[in-house]
Amino acid sequence: MRYSELFGKTLREAPRDEESKNAQLLARGGYVNKLMSGVYTFLPLGTRVLTKIENIVREEMAAIGGQEILMPTMQPKENWVATGRWDDFDVLYKVKSPDGREVALGPTHEEVVAPLAKQYVQSYKDLPLYLYQIQTKFRDELRAKNGLLRGREFRMKDLYSFHSSVEDLEAYYEKAKQAYAKIFDRVGLKALLTEASGGTFSKYSHEFQVQVESGEDVLYHCSKCSFCQNKEIVSADLDKLKVGEAGVCPKCGENLEVVSATEVGNIFQLKNKYSDPFKLTFLDSDGQTQTVMMGCYGIGTSRLMGTIAEVLSDEKGLRWPEEVAPYKVHLVSLGKSMPFANEVYHKLVSAGVEVLYDERDCSAGVKLGDADLVGLPLRVVVSDKTAAENKVELKARNSEEVRVISIDETLEILVK
Ligand code: ATP
Ligand code: MG
Repeated sequence: MRYSELFGKTLREAPRDEESKNAQLLARGGYVNKLMSGVYTFLPLGTRVLTKIENIVREEMAAIGGQEILMPTMQPKENWVATGRWDDFDVLYKVKSPDGREVALGPTHEEVVAPLAKQYVQSYKDLPLYLYQIQTKFRDELRAKNGLLRGREFRMKDLYSFHSSVEDLEAYYEKAKQAYAKIFDRVGLKALLTEASGGTFSKYSHEFQVQVESGEDVLYHCSKCSFCQNKEIVSADLDKLKVGEAGVCPKCGENLEVVSATEVGNIFQLKNKYSDPFKLTFLDSDGQTQTVMMGCYGIGTSRLMGTIAEVLSDEKGLRWPEEVAPYKVHLVSLGKSMPFANEVYHKLVSAGVEVLYDERDCSAGVKLGDADLVGLPLRVVVSDKTAAENKVELKARNSEEVRVISIDETLEILVK
């Protein structure tokens, strides 16, 4: 991709109405554009990052048997009345059509997936079943000032599992936990497995939390053992501790830290919570009617993108891990080196390397500053000096080391 043709340019200053670090960086880098509070357009670079994140999620969902579907955003009011959530779900968008009919804009999809499964699940032979989607969700969040970390319109992967017994649900829940750990590892984040309230249906749900300054959750985390609980559920004596303070881990007696974090994933054992209102049952091997046991497993894929932006960046800009970077290489031509840079570009592209090629006629300072801001994993600079020797400068975004090498050597390093 030639930078001069790319839609969405870097900005020298962050937009004045962006308070959060993730939105400032992503807007400056040309990844997103704000339409209104909590609502963003993903520009070409941003769309590439989001797609890569969502494809990683797809691979890991397929690995645990997930079948991808796409459910509607518009959901009938009756389904939400049936679960009691038409009035109880405080951030639900309710839309009235001109003829007076009311629908919900999906903030989550239990009210669609449970009646859907009911139409296809008859006997124990139809179970277990794992359905997921990656879709745009809507929530009328009170404060939507944290960029992609808290959208009113945002992206989520939601997986729903259907089981013939609680034991089978519990076994799958553990599998999903491991799939989640893999996803966060692949996108370059350290996610803490955190106990949080599970509602009335199980003791805990598990959240995957990433430590970040702007995070809206407070965690009590022990770095020695695995203890990690969300503030919502911790015991009263721990609750007195503030972010930045330290305490004693109730599990191992070591140092407990209180940190800010953002919830990138959440898994629940729903059991019969949504099966009951929709009479989602099956016939067991004795011909008896039983209730289907459900689990649900969410990941905020756009929040994940904002979290990566925030956690992995430095003072110069973004720093994408290779698996989610929009392109692998930022190729920069300086001075009069264009003909040689063009040759390098074509060779890299022909070898299958994803390249963003900055061939604009502007200063070295601007181009190198933009390369740091956009944050691709590798930078290849061609200058008059390197071109004279048929060489390029190769530098990783997260290192200061610069290597002057030939195109062939560059290809060897890039094409593994
Ligand atoms: P929060 O407590 O942050 O509001 P939640 O617990 O209400 O989130 P869930 O219903 O568990 O969210 O949704 C599943 C996942 O969707 C969350 O783990 C999070 O990653 C993502 N998510 C939820 N709300 C938002 C939002 N407003 N913007 C972006 N992502 C979100
Ligand atoms: Mg949650």
